[in-house]
Amino acid sequence: MTDAIVFLGIQGSGKGTQAKILAEKSGYQHVNIGDLFREQIAGGSKLGLEVKSIIARGDLVSDELVFDLVNSSLCADCPGIIFDGFPRTPAQAEFLMANYRVKRVYYLSLSEEDAISRIEARRVCGDCGENFNLISRIPKQEGVCDVCGGQLKQRADDTGDAIKQRVKEFYAQTYALKEFFAKKGVLHTISADNGIQDIGREIMQDLQNL
Ligand code: AMP
Repeated sequence: MTDAIVFLGIQGSGKGTQAKILAEKSGYQHVNIGDLFREQIAGGSKLGLEVKSIIARGDLVSDELVFDLVNSSLCADCPGIIFDGFPRTPAQAEFLMANYRVKRVYYLSLSEEDAISRIEARRVCGDCGENFNLISRIPKQEGVCDVCGGQLKQRADDTGDAIKQRVKEFYAQTYALKEFFAKKGVLHTISADNGIQDIGREIMQDLQNL
């Protein structure tokens, strides 16, 4: 079985940021299901058309489609895999435990109020996908990506009712997974209020002690 490390947390808690840092340090493959769905939508595939309106509303995509995507996106020669935004339902958590050797699940805790303000401030580069934030990672030039010069955009589901629905789904479906993984003895909770570097250091130290 492949080793897996998981980032769990409400939208805006910094899962993607930490997953990216850890992937660079560990050589593990970083899998973000939301990004994979967005690629399918941008490419106009059958799957993309199927999930487009679900994602725009802020609902969760069905477990079956998520399992297909997870199964088809794995890199054969990576030492392990980092899941960011997966699992989000009890069935996905069972799938994960049945198919991977789960080393750790990092739960990044953040209040609902802070999550919503972070999501509203998020901007993403339309070209390279780099994430910025108008509060905590302000681009040097307004609307322009520091990394590649591409145009920064707000994700359609980072606004209005879609945010509310995504946060609602988090509490209805995903929050209970914290308890599930605690019982399995793999949960490690970190406050998402800590700085990016501090969280990264805590994760590296924890992994070294496993
Ligand atoms: P994210 O970029 O992680 O916020 O994901 C964007 C959207 O993709 C979510 O609001 C869901 O519609 C869908 N999605 C991503 N990951 C999952 C998952 N594990 N299970 C179901 N739907 C997902």
